[in-house]
Parts: sequence; structure tokens; C-alpha cells
Amino acid sequence: MKIKTKKRPSWDEYFLKLAMLASERSTCPRMHCGCVIVKDKFVLATGYNGSLPGLPHCEDEGCLIVDNHCVRTNHAEINALTQAVTHGVNLKGSTAYITNMSCTTCAKAMIAAGIKRVVVFSEYHDTLATKFYTESHVEIVKLKMPGKEIHYDLKRYTSARKTKKSK
Ligand SMILES: [Zn+2]
Ligand SMILES: [Zn+2]
Repeated sequence: MKIKTKKRPSWDEYFLKLAMLASERSTCPRMHCGCVIVKDKFVLATGYNGSLPGLPHCEDEGCLIVDNHCVRTNHAEINALTQAVTHGVNLKGSTAYITNMSCTTCAKAMIAAGIKRVVVFSEYHDTLATKFYTESHVEIVKLKMPGKEIHYDLKRYTSARKTKKSK
């Protein structure tokens, strides 16, 4: 019997969706960003914008605003980079999936870490990221935002259906 399934996401859509999922962990109410760094379809690191380990969250103590930006958190890209550093992972030649276009500082850090491709669906305001990425020959791919829902429909999968015994 042929059962119609939802269209499978492309690899780019899949990893972008993972970046969206990572953004759910963000702790700054001004912006929720996620970043997933991938090489050969293998996730090397993930990050979201959040406070330094052990320090208060914007959500709990309010944002720490300097020049109209909240500076309490590390951005998603920096947190993905620091996760890779912590685990001794080489990011050279990898692709970064980010929910929002990098700020200038994050773009420079990503370039220096060897990121070669950036996939993103949302713009950031007022940044030199595109200029730096382009000058450093980092490919920028802009996709439309993947679907916000995760299509996990347990009830539909016959092998997951409850039997009388398993209730
Ligand atoms: Zn904040
Ligand atoms: Zn940034």
C-alpha cells in the first residue's frame, strides 16, 4: 500500500530547521537566533544567543543594553564556535546554518574559523557581514524560512500505534 508522506526537506532546509530549533534555547527576549555548523552532513556544533555560563539570563534580570544592543549574551554563531573550541573540533570548510544574518563581529569570527558557506533565511539590520563574507569568498545562500512545524505525527505511524498490551 502506498502511503503519501509529507515532502521531505532538503538538506539545507533540514539543517536550517535545526538552527530554528536551537534558537528556542535563546534567553534574550530581544532576539532569538540559532546556529548549526555542519560538514559533510555531520553536525559539528550548535549555538543560540545566551548568557555566559553561570551568569544571569536576560529573561530573568532584563537585558544589558549598550548603544541600543543587548550585550549580555554571546550570539548564536559565537556560542557554536566556542562549543567547537571546547570540544577540539576543526570547523574548516564547514557550512553554518543561521536563522538570522550574522552581525559584523560574528561574521568575522566565522570567517576566521574557516566557515566556507552560510545558509540563512532572515536579514539582520545594519551590518557589514555580507561585505566581509563576500570579500572572504564565503558563499551566502538565502532560503525562505522552512516550515515552522515539525511533522512528527506519532499516531500515523503504524508501528508506533498502541496495542491493547502496550497501554
Ligand atoms: Zn538581552
Ligand atoms: Zn553576532
